[in-house]
Amino acid sequence: MVETKRWNVMKTGTNNEMRIIEAGELLKAGETVAFPTETVYGLGADATNSVAVAKIFQAKGRPQDNPLIAHVATKEQLFQLVESVPSYVEKLIDTFSPGPITYVLPSNGTCADNVTAGLTTVGVRIPSHPVALKLLKACNTPIAAPSANLSGKPSPTTAEHVWDDLHGKIAGLVDGGPTGVGLESTVVDCTQDIPIILRPGGISLEELEEVVGKVMMDPALQSASATEKPKAPGMKYKHYAPEVPMWLIEGGSEKIQETYIQLKAEGKRVGVLANRNILEKLTVDEKISLGESLEEVASNLYDGLRKFKQGDVDIILCDTYPEIGIGQAVMNRLRKAASRYIVE
Ligand code: AMP
Ligand code: MG
Repeated sequence: MVETKRWNVMKTGTNNEMRIIEAGELLKAGETVAFPTETVYGLGADATNSVAVAKIFQAKGRPQDNPLIAHVATKEQLFQLVESVPSYVEKLIDTFSPGPITYVLPSNGTCADNVTAGLTTVGVRIPSHPVALKLLKACNTPIAAPSANLSGKPSPTTAEHVWDDLHGKIAGLVDGGPTGVGLESTVVDCTQDIPIILRPGGISLEELEEVVGKVMMDPALQSASATEKPKAPGMKYKHYAPEVPMWLIEGGSEKIQETYIQLKAEGKRVGVLANRNILEKLTVDEKISLGESLEEVASNLYDGLRKFKQGDVDIILCDTYPEIGIGQAVMNRLRKAASRYIVE
């Protein structure tokens, strides 16, 4: 157990800059510090220091073969980590960075081997959250940072989520309030002539195509077959799982109500996670609203999944969403979180 230092950087009229500098000092000294980004909270360590990076894997219980994303403050710093890149990369960076997008590029070896999990490529991103940017500038070194949750659990969108999972296991936590997007960055393989989405996220396929033309989806994302190997190593692992089993239900409020009645007849306590307009039509024990728009659903999803606790309900029923825009990322996470997918 280590003592986890906690800084609140949302206090008005106080010295938040000093708190961020203090957190940066811990990172520079080779310690792990969790911090807010616009996607989810990240667990950071100096990406050039393999001993520091090893502490991330240790704290999260993360499989060793799952590479980390290196975070930098500027485009110049991004280019310092990679070999030459296809011309479309600069267009993507100028349009979407800082923002929720990660570029997988040939590594030039600046990042430690355990950041890339021994791959020849490195995932790099420039976060847009002001606290993340200030912290990166304060320590002036690339920071490797996966989501700041225990491996397998839903990613953290508040400092409380991070505290629940990791206090006593990490050196520091910068509390900057709830994150915005609520789902992780879009991971784009930029080593080929055409960019390939390895993980859908905050920037949609449609948005990318508007800037660079044709963009592909990693076939492993669409296929349920085990033969199709995802190119982002992390995509093969169990992910985002709530404490109790979650069933994903296609077919709207009627199908959810029908499944609920069947489960009640078996003596189960059932919680429902859905949009406000769906919940209004249902008679159920427990319910949590994800809001209205797809953006709200993305932003509230992980908190919703974490709120249903063992002892309160035996099973969670969750609605499905159209796979357009951020809906692609929402459905990607829901399919991974679900223990069963009921199709109408
Ligand atoms: P996390 O930071 O926990 O949200 O996970 C980062 C995601 O990016 C995982 O799915 C990784 O497998 C993926 N990733 C990171 N670096 C690379 C890389 N060099 N090549 C392919 N995928 C990567
Ligand atoms: Mg993660």
